[in-house]
Amino acid sequence: MNPRIIVHGGAGRHEIDQPQDILETAADSGYAAMEEGTAVDAVETAVNVLEDHPAFNAGNGAKYQLDGNPRPEAAIMTGNGDAGAVTDLDGICHAISVARAIMEQTHHVMLSGPFATRFADHCGFDRQDLSSEKAATEWEKMHAMVEDLSFDETIETLKEYDTGGTVGCVAIDADGSLAAGTSTGGRSPQLAGRMGDTPMIGCGTYCNEHAAVSATGIGEAIITMTLARRCVEYREDGMQPAVATENAIKALEEKTDRHAGVIMLDDNGETGISHNADEMNTVVRE
Ligand code: ASP
Repeated sequence: MNPRIIVHGGAGRHEIDQPQDILETAADSGYAAMEEGTAVDAVETAVNVLEDHPAFNAGNGAKYQLDGNPRPEAAIMTGNGDAGAVTDLDGICHAISVARAIMEQTHHVMLSGPFATRFADHCGFDRQDLSSEKAATEWEKMHAMVEDLSFDETIETLKEYDTGGTVGCVAIDADGSLAAGTSTGGRSPQLAGRMGDTPMIGCGTYCNEHAAVSATGIGEAIITMTLARRCVEYREDGMQPAVATENAIKALEEKTDRHAGVIMLDDNGETGISHNADEMNTVVRE
């Protein structure tokens, strides 16, 4: 089996201002990690590179929630069906690594909030200031728009806007093992306490022995369509990944009228990349 990796930097309605060279570095780093290790090492390594860079909506670049705080969330899953997920972290850049630690060190799939952060502290993750100029500027704009509005008016106003930039990765290693992972700061704008599709297994992230998927786009639509699981189900029904991802995105558009993007690898190393956004940046290495 030839190892293969795909990374994405999110799907957006508008032009996503992202450095392509960092996406390429992420794919190269993930691929190199896979030569020494496995698909799950590739996914974690590639996503860490993107979490480190403030241009992406994850880790150091995580978008803020409406109260002015970033709350990173992530999920990781392997072809064995092992999964780890985390939401509402405080000051932890490598959310995907916390998700992996939950998968490998606990008997749970998901931790949230202060206890997730405490678990990360216990594992030795550093707490850091995740504020970034890009996320702060975006938050100031959103906050100024709603600060004099009632709560109901705020909710109505925020429905009009949307920005993305979540990051994700799927990989297959030389042994044919698959893995998928996704990490994000959520959508902007978003109410404080919102949880998106990214850490929800089967929604933003899914992997089994047949295929691995990472999704991006409007989380609420992705959740109601269980988009990542849907792509894998289509593959299980006999569709090639390119057809499976295309059909899943079509179904999401028809049902929700929202946008999303997916990357997929199956157990033959076949690739599917589809979106109905204005832009989705991806890199494939093999
Ligand atoms: N899916 C993410 C969320 O809704 C946003 C994104 O993909 O950019 O939290």
